[in-house]
Amino acid sequence: MVNLDSDKEFLITLDTDWASPEILGYVSDLLKEFRTSAHWFITDNGFREAGINDAPLFSIGIHPNMMEGSTQGRSVKEVFDYLLNLAPDAESMRTHSLFQSTPFFSEVIEHYPQIKTDLSCYTPFNPNPKPFNLHLDNGSICRLPYIWEDDLNMYMPESDRFLKWGAFTPETTFITTDFHPVHIALNSADMSAYKRMVSEHSLSSVDLKTLRKYRNNSVYGTEDFLRDILSQCRSVSLREVTAC
Ligand SMILES: [Zn+2]
Repeated sequence: MVNLDSDKEFLITLDTDWASPEILGYVSDLLKEFRTSAHWFITDNGFREAGINDAPLFSIGIHPNMMEGSTQGRSVKEVFDYLLNLAPDAESMRTHSLFQSTPFFSEVIEHYPQIKTDLSCYTPFNPNPKPFNLHLDNGSICRLPYIWEDDLNMYMPESDRFLKWGAFTPETTFITTDFHPVHIALNSADMSAYKRMVSEHSLSSVDLKTLRKYRNNSVYGTEDFLRDILSQCRSVSLREVTAC
């Protein structure tokens, strides 16, 4: 367990990243246990199978994969049409692998004005990131930087992980997080268990019984950190914090 200052507020966001409905259901149950708000960026239909769209405290955004070989489509139009067909009310996005460029944002502003907020801006050592408008030739989009992501945290030098690094200095009062359900379910402390599991099983269909064979139960990990946040601090919804 780590001790958090109870005056810190957290926005819990999650990228589903093609995790199986069983994994999503496991994380959804955990969040519901703490009655917390959470914002899910979805990649595929698994969130519906896990009932995430039916939970009143959850909100849904999209997680476009613009990388080569994407299963969501081969253009901005194909990818966004696919995702907005799954989540028609989505008003926010975080791109998979943090893909971004000004022509990309310009196309989103032009053709998908329902996407008003972007969370693809990772600024880990920014003590108090504020939302800002990115203005382009055809309009603007609100960007909310975030300062913690589970897998990127694992790549940090060990001494800097979790709460020991700059983003969690005393002046930081509001922390936007990015969790991956698979790392919560695996309680990942590094990427080894995840890599072993996905080399032997399909992430989109793996069941919890199989996943438990790979789960970290020996050192402090991602689920431990999430539970510490949820038990010690207030969680806020995306709607409460974005105002560009
Ligand atoms: Zn992703």
